[in-house]
Amino acid sequence: MKRILLIATGGTIASLPREDGLAPALSGEELAAYVPQVSDLCQLDFVQPMNIDSTNMRPADWLTIARTIEDAYDDYDGFVILHGTDTMAYTASSLSYLIQDSPKPIVLTGSQQPMANPFTDAKLNLYQSVLFALDPAAHDVSVCFGGKVIAGTRARKQRTLSFNAFGSVNYPSLAYIRGKRIVRPGAESGPGAAATGKPAGPARFYHQLDERVLVLKLTPELKPSIFELLKADYRAVILETFGIGGIPEYDDGSYRKAIFDWVDSGRVIVVTTQVPEEGLDLGVYEVGHAYADKPSILRADDMTTEALVAKTMWMLGQTDDPRQMAELFYKPINHDRVPS
Ligand code: ASP
Repeated sequence: MKRILLIATGGTIASLPREDGLAPALSGEELAAYVPQVSDLCQLDFVQPMNIDSTNMRPADWLTIARTIEDAYDDYDGFVILHGTDTMAYTASSLSYLIQDSPKPIVLTGSQQPMANPFTDAKLNLYQSVLFALDPAAHDVSVCFGGKVIAGTRARKQRTLSFNAFGSVNYPSLAYIRGKRIVRPGAESGPGAAATGKPAGPARFYHQLDERVLVLKLTPELKPSIFELLKADYRAVILETFGIGGIPEYDDGSYRKAIFDWVDSGRVIVVTTQVPEEGLDLGVYEVGHAYADKPSILRADDMTTEALVAKTMWMLGQTDDPRQMAELFYKPINHDRVPS
């Protein structure tokens, strides 16, 4: 029988009502006891590195989860992480960079309603995540939620209440789970299916992140002097521009000056869009064109902001050299970007 390690970290799935609202309380073992069908599928072991609302999940916690998987990697066929939904997309992205080319699947799930709620989505999400983690064609980091499997770098929480909380942004879902069947669009499914793109291994583990990364959303009349204020605490800004890549060009040239000052001081700018879908192209409009060919300004293209945050933290954790940073940044990892 295959062995799966269930890594319980908290979230709504583990929560019980308290005086001030829902708070994580149940352990991984207690959660699995609600879904006894899982023990017919595999041998399940448990580990609980934390039990928190994912609002409180930080880069140090991502490293702890990655280390938990690394320490147990040889002993298991796959890993299922129970996690709060609010920051699951960030954790899934960070694990995609901290654990690369993993032939063993690492599947994140959670729920919109607590496991103990009679109308919960938790049971099916847990069951289907284990089912997917046992699939011979599964590999690398993914989010399994509401019957959909999404690459860890493409997931985004798009709904605060509905059971289909997660969408796959700018990239197709990897698979759908229909009852007990795993359906991969355009591929032969089932036990005999080819493991398309499955890495031969060994998986590569990384242990460093630099959390000094900020997301800045442009709004009309945002003062470019903000960049000066950010220098004390941040090394990288992920700039959510307008549309396909518009950055204001006020008459005094203040935006261009602020952005070029920032990168000339050895810091990083990652340019992305605040439009939810279809990505960025700095070359299209006059406003934005000035930044298109500057190598120290990194272009997000079709990546999600969640993946950008995690990839930038990972990239800064690996090197201080701008050329190496660009190499790491533009290399596609776990479907995070479609090369242009
Ligand atoms: N606040 C919860 C969390 O992210 C929400 C959830 O799990 O759905 O931990």
